[in-house]
Amino acid sequence: MTSTSGLNLVAGQWTAAHSGKVFSRRNPADDDDLVGEFPESSMADVEAALPAFAEGAAEWAAASADRRAEVLGRAAGLLEERRAELAAELVREEGKTLAEATAETTRTSLNLRFYAGEAHRVAGASYPADDGGLVYTWREPVGVVGAITPWNFPLTIPSRKIGPALAAGNAVLFKPSPVTPLMAQRLVEALLAAGLPSRAVALLHGGAAAGAAAAADPRVAAVTFTGSTTAGRAVHALVGPSRRAQLEMGGKNPVVVLQDADLDRAARIIVKGAFGLSGQACTGTSRVIALRQVHDPLLDRVVELAGKLAVGDGMRPGVDMGPLAADFQLRKVLDHVRVGQEEGADLMTGGHRLTGGGRERGLFVAPAVFAGVCPEMRLAREEIFGPVLGFQCAADFEEALELAAATEYGLASGIVTRDLGKALAFARRSPSGLVKVNQPTTGTAMNVPFGGLGESSSQTFKEQAGPTAMLFYLREKSVYLSPLD
Ligand code: NAD
Repeated sequence: MTSTSGLNLVAGQWTAAHSGKVFSRRNPADDDDLVGEFPESSMADVEAALPAFAEGAAEWAAASADRRAEVLGRAAGLLEERRAELAAELVREEGKTLAEATAETTRTSLNLRFYAGEAHRVAGASYPADDGGLVYTWREPVGVVGAITPWNFPLTIPSRKIGPALAAGNAVLFKPSPVTPLMAQRLVEALLAAGLPSRAVALLHGGAAAGAAAAADPRVAAVTFTGSTTAGRAVHALVGPSRRAQLEMGGKNPVVVLQDADLDRAARIIVKGAFGLSGQACTGTSRVIALRQVHDPLLDRVVELAGKLAVGDGMRPGVDMGPLAADFQLRKVLDHVRVGQEEGADLMTGGHRLTGGGRERGLFVAPAVFAGVCPEMRLAREEIFGPVLGFQCAADFEEALELAAATEYGLASGIVTRDLGKALAFARRSPSGLVKVNQPTTGTAMNVPFGGLGESSSQTFKEQAGPTAMLFYLREKSVYLSPLD
């Protein structure tokens, strides 16, 4: 397969990094397959990109809502036309299965269309004034938005940041994950082909250094970040108090299973949430808290289903779970499996590297299920971000709630039950931004606000989906208007 030489987009030109350095990205299912080489950006590239925004940002801020909507809608259409090709590239670059990658490319276009519509709905409010005048609020773009994104949804997450940022009339400095540079390149190519002024967007490939330089620069008015809690905290410190930061970070998401649950159904819900996307979803299920009466039969079912999952190259028909996305992911998962065993949890299935059957050059692991996980174990506390699931046992609903809440994170949680009263109580009391009843913890609707509580989010402008996401990208003024006579 051919590899791609990616470039940065700086001041409207496709260009190499100032240092001339590049990094390479390889297919996680086959290390011999070079996806491409991309510029390793640094502060010098951020410095070069920012002055061009003076022109590009002004042009885009002055563009009518019609034009903004048209560009976003056209980009969505271009991605749709290329859906099959793009999905295959996504599998090759990140390691999803083809079905997962196709769903992601489809959602990306839908996101862009959704925010195209929002361009027409930017509105303020008016208030009564005592003197016969008018008080109104006026919303305008914040200026240059920095978008720093992770690799696990390399198209959808950028689309729900860049989409609303552009719909609101901002220019965007996009710093994608170095694990998925090709998808970032494709998204920017589609926006330019759709008619976005080339100085209204910059693409800077590279790692933490480029992200930190972008976050630290005061010319970047707002930084929207999705990634790990550790990196998010660093970004927050760089942005400081007088600029905007939106941080969506890690999770340690529990599913509570009550004694009245249909256990076959519960097991399917859990396995999808834990092992879909190879467990590399921020909302992925990593803990099961089962009431004592159903713990053992539920564990048996989950272990059986996990053991049956077909793990392999996401392009192969019948594969349920692709590889991990990167070496550091494989090391982290295997390390957590080892630590879990050392801490005394029982490994019931999986947790080892898979190399047979054409998987010799890939980053494949067997989905792991642990039993006997205690709240103080690292398995119960730390985000693993891989296909590792831990079972905990609770005596009653109150203890289940307590165990579910025993985490610094607050992204997603779920409950499986027929008892509507308990489901509603769980939704009310579970300290997470997303609650699922009888559904996998993964999967969100594009038109519904999405964001975490606790260490999963900065709690500022947290919605990163739906119409309220627009508010992060707009600043508001209050105007008092009085007649002179
Ligand atoms: P990461 O934190 O390593 O990297 C995310 C992005 O930040 C990348 O572009 C990276 O280059 C950049 N970065 C890293 N350190 C930085 C720094 N000090 N300053 C500026 N930029 C920096 O995360 P990842 O491995 O790409 O993604 C996995 C993580 O993302 C998991 O923790 C997962 O839970 C989280 N995630 C959260 C959500 C959500 O909606 N809450 C969604 C997807 C992923």
